[in-house]
Order: sequence, then structure tokens, then C-alpha cells
Amino acid sequence: MQQVQAACDTCGAALVPNAAYCERCGARTRRARRLVRLAIRVELLFFALVVGIVIAFTWIYSVQR
Ligand SMILES: [Zn+2]
Repeated sequence: MQQVQAACDTCGAALVPNAAYCERCGARTRRARRLVRLAIRVELLFFALVVGIVIAFTWIYSVQR
């Protein structure tokens, strides 16, 4: 369930629907914070994937010699 945030958590000003920032005080909305957390998670997942591939190739290389 996705509830739409109608007012700023920081200053209480009314928000434009789906706004990422408050127009009055510039605070991030809950939706924007959630998207940032999601982006960080995807980035960490991608980093773990790259590290895993590097480790796997290093292992394959050392086994083949
Ligand atoms: Zn605000």
C-alpha cells in the first residue's frame, strides 16, 4: 500500500503530488527518501556482484594454471 504524503514532515507545507522535495523548506519527502534508500541498495547489490565476478575469475584463473 502506498500512501501519498500530502504535507511536509518538516514544515507542514502542502506538497505537490509525487513531489520529491518540499517547495517551502526543501526537505526531502518520504517518497524521495525511500527512492534514495532503494538506489543505495541497488548500488550495493551491483558492487557485490562485481566483487563476486572478480573473485570468481581470479579463482578460475588460479585453478586453470
Ligand atoms: Zn517543508
